Amino acid sequence: MEAFTYDALPARVRFGAGTLGLLREEAERLGAKRVLVLSTPQQEDQARQAEALLGPLAAGRFAGATMHTPVEVTERALALAIELGADCVVAIGGGSTTGLGKAIALRTDLPQITVPTTYAGSEMTPILGQTEGGRKSTIRSLKVLPEVVIYDVDLTLGLPPALSATSGMNAIAHAAEALYARDRNPVISLMAEEGARAFARALPRIMDNPRDAQARSDALYGAWLCGACLGAVGMALHHKLCHVVGGSFDLPHAETHTIILPHAVAYNTPAAPEAMARLAAAIGAEDAASGLFALAGRIGAPRALRDLGMAEAGIDQAAREATENPYWNPRPIEPGPIRALIARAWAGEAPVA
Ligand code: NAD
Repeated sequence: MEAFTYDALPARVRFGAGTLGLLREEAERLGAKRVLVLSTPQQEDQARQAEALLGPLAAGRFAGATMHTPVEVTERALALAIELGADCVVAIGGGSTTGLGKAIALRTDLPQITVPTTYAGSEMTPILGQTEGGRKSTIRSLKVLPEVVIYDVDLTLGLPPALSATSGMNAIAHAAEALYARDRNPVISLMAEEGARAFARALPRIMDNPRDAQARSDALYGAWLCGACLGAVGMALHHKLCHVVGGSFDLPHAETHTIILPHAVAYNTPAAPEAMARLAAAIGAEDAASGLFALAGRIGAPRALRDLGMAEAGIDQAAREATENPYWNPRPIEPGPIRALIARAWAGEAPVA
């Protein structure tokens, strides 16, 4: 066994079907008396459902969460929290709503109950990405880590299949990079393998029947594990590429992750053979990169950046930005192969190690 360091993050997790019904009990357990419920405009009905379950503890709702956690949206939600005298926030939704809850907690230290409805995994991380004037910055602080996470499988039954596919691939990306992280450790590696395995099993079944409760349960379990990986160890080339490509060309988050993942894994395969063997076994493939590319195809997820609207002329810019200030990566960042990787991801070609 190699030497390692393992920092456990505090988390209280309630997992199951119908667990949103535990919301009031969990709020009371935190001593909350005036809860502000957060959602996107698209999920306001679920926010109303949360308010109804909270009963007299519900102080109000803010259904204005949006992508990339813009500071101006946070400020509006914060003003409402102050006006209402909120002593707790409930964030019900995907990574965007979770991000708003975290942004409020960063500024107020209010306790958070997060109810994830996608597989993004943000609820398990002490990381907040926010944007101001179009610029994104990332903060790492235990203040933003939710006190309680309620995973309710029922809330994910209606997650549209296309979003389920890309959100699931986004989660697998956290597990893949955790397996070869510089600060990897045996506990997180086990969670990464199990998380990737859960998704590889669940996603095709969800595509066949989006309301398959067992498959949805496996996927949400995978989301918890993969989110915990993202929160615990450092990410590498894949996350850097997604940050650069997604940020510079304003591409959607989960779709970008889905397309880049097989290519980033292929690039790192020669430098991390043991991690890749574990990942391949977890997803039931002979080779991790081609297995992930095949999985994306099987579940009908996008496989070409050009299909997201990125212009071919962007390949050179992305390659340049990806090689500036690179994250640590098991394989050195080489400009030529990185450009070739981005070009293949742009065109939707199969990954090449
Ligand atoms: P999202 O939260 O933007 O959700 C996408 C859309 O799907 C929204 O309209 C949302 O309301 C809707 N939706 C969510 N769940 C639904 C459901 N069950 N049924 C129907 N509609 C539903 O997307 P996301 O991929 O979950 O999150 C992406 C964001 O999260 C990005 O901004 C990303 O940077 C951030 N993120 C942060 C971390 C972190 O650790 N800080 C980790 C992962 C993702």
